[in-house]
Amino acid sequence: MRKPEPFKIKMVEPIKLISREERIKALERAGYNPFSLRSDDIFIDLLTDSGTGAMSDRQWAGIMMGDESYAGSRSFFRLEAAAQDIFGYKYIIPAHQGRGAEQIFFPQLIKKGQDVLGNMHFDTTMAHIELAGGRAVNLIHERAFDTTTPYPFKGDFDLEKLEDYIKNRGAENIAFLIITVTCNSAGGQPVSMANIKAVSEICKKYGIRVFIDAARYAENAYFIKTREKGYENKSIKEIVREMFSYAEGFTMSAKKDAIVNIGGLVGIKDDEELYLNTRSTVVPYEGFPTYGGLSGRDLEAMAIGLYEGIDEAYLEYRISQVEYLGKRLMDGGVPIQTPPGGHAVFVDAKKFLPHIPYYQFPAQALANALYIESGIRAVEIGSFLLGRDPETGEQREADMELMRLTIPRRVYTNSHMDYIADSLIALLDRASEIKGVEIEYEPRVLRHFTARLRPVK
Ligand SMILES: *Cc1c(COP(=O)(O)O)cnc(C)c1O
Repeated sequence: MRKPEPFKIKMVEPIKLISREERIKALERAGYNPFSLRSDDIFIDLLTDSGTGAMSDRQWAGIMMGDESYAGSRSFFRLEAAAQDIFGYKYIIPAHQGRGAEQIFFPQLIKKGQDVLGNMHFDTTMAHIELAGGRAVNLIHERAFDTTTPYPFKGDFDLEKLEDYIKNRGAENIAFLIITVTCNSAGGQPVSMANIKAVSEICKKYGIRVFIDAARYAENAYFIKTREKGYENKSIKEIVREMFSYAEGFTMSAKKDAIVNIGGLVGIKDDEELYLNTRSTVVPYEGFPTYGGLSGRDLEAMAIGLYEGIDEAYLEYRISQVEYLGKRLMDGGVPIQTPPGGHAVFVDAKKFLPHIPYYQFPAQALANALYIESGIRAVEIGSFLLGRDPETGEQREADMELMRLTIPRRVYTNSHMDYIADSLIALLDRASEIKGVEIEYEPRVLRHFTARLRPVK
């Protein structure tokens, strides 16, 4: 029997479904780009799971207990102790969010012209590697791009590709390797323990250091527990400890699995020199090393959130809610990437809207139709996001045209999931009437945030 949410609701935030006419006007004002919608015009917001989670009563109590001392805050020491206990690392430095952690950490490790290997780098991670003079290389297994076969660990590295790459490029030209758990850019797909271990063994052989991009470390651990043989009776904490034992350090966006609205971390296993260098870099960019761009109350909330994020009853609810939405959609005939990831369900817009070519952005058209249908905001991950070829200026065609339904943590109930599924299933019948979109205005960089579009006539 399916278990219900392992919490009861103590405080509510009203949401409102504005009328269809108002939604049509709001989308027109937003230039047919859901990014530009105002949140007051949205009923259910599935744009991202980053910083959108609901804190617990304990975290809110922690907010009141936060110590705002500039240096040596009691809240920092609580955070440090929690992170040391969970990850088994000696050195912990807070940052204002994940990219803040990347900014203070990567320059310590990259020499100009070196590569940084990864399963699939997240976009801010790639940006900070490039800003530090490096080049980001993705070595994820091909399986990740097969949306229809439900492999259990689609975030895994291709080990053969990895070793060949190191041999050809030369280990001296590789700054380090970073394992992203779960692999966000591949749809929140997990990496198996066997793969993490094998990657670290290959890297050891060639003297390459291994780090973790840890945003969704707890969801990854839960997938290992439920999908990988030998881990079914281990606790989430034991699994997390083993995952991190194969690496030397991590950067983390705490806005995901640590269930806070803002925060990040750097963790270093035992390399004192790397710690001292990172600690001296945090000062000019983020702030004194015991607050790292956060208030004392933020540190307190993160210390509590780290433990709530690895609670098994919470993780079971979290992963099964995403799974539930995925199953309802599949049962209703909506094409999705299988299995669903830890934090989102990806709808295959190429299959949903086969009559719309990539240059009319099928996933963007579908997100717009979904908003008009039911006030739900989803996000395009496809050719619109990919943008133009920097040399020729031509629109590039993405491998997949996906619409992401990202589920915030502890925010929506399964009744919301039903509404989302029913809305998309209703759209299926009218799919052939949905029209593509074309660009009316676009800025030169990162256009997907602010571009204006119009429906194709
Ligand atoms: C969100 C995220 C980041 C960046 O973190 P922010 O808190 O958004 O700055 C880095 N890596 C991964 C895998 C992420 O999901």
